[in-house]
Amino acid sequence: MEQQKIPIQANVSDDRRSEGYVNVVYFNPAARMKEALKKLALFWGIAIVSVALPVVHFVTVPLFFCLGIFFAYRTYKSEGRVIEGLTRCPHCENEVPIKPAELQWPLTEICQNCARVVRIERK
Ligand SMILES: [Zn+2]
Repeated sequence: MEQQKIPIQANVSDDRRSEGYVNVVYFNPAARMKEALKKLALFWGIAIVSVALPVVHFVTVPLFFCLGIFFAYRTYKSEGRVIEGLTRCPHCENEVPIKPAELQWPLTEICQNCARVVRIERK
């Protein structure tokens, strides 16, 4: 899978903007399906194991069953993964590193300097 560098624009919910980039890898549909099934298997695995727990299994089994569907669906819907990135806080100019995550626009990061929520959008 190939990394792509994408120019981005960060904002803190006002008119100020700052530039940056993120490196992402895009999943093809087959890879997305594989990732989604892996998550489903993981959560349903936990659900099956928790059948053995007395009393709490009334909660844990349906909970993990639903969580599995939820996370698998989210993975399937995501376009790819963020590998890393960097921008600046539009408010205080501090560098804001972008952490690896599922690729879902807009991305958000917390500025470590002024604690503002930085929204990151594709340019
Ligand atoms: Zn800041």
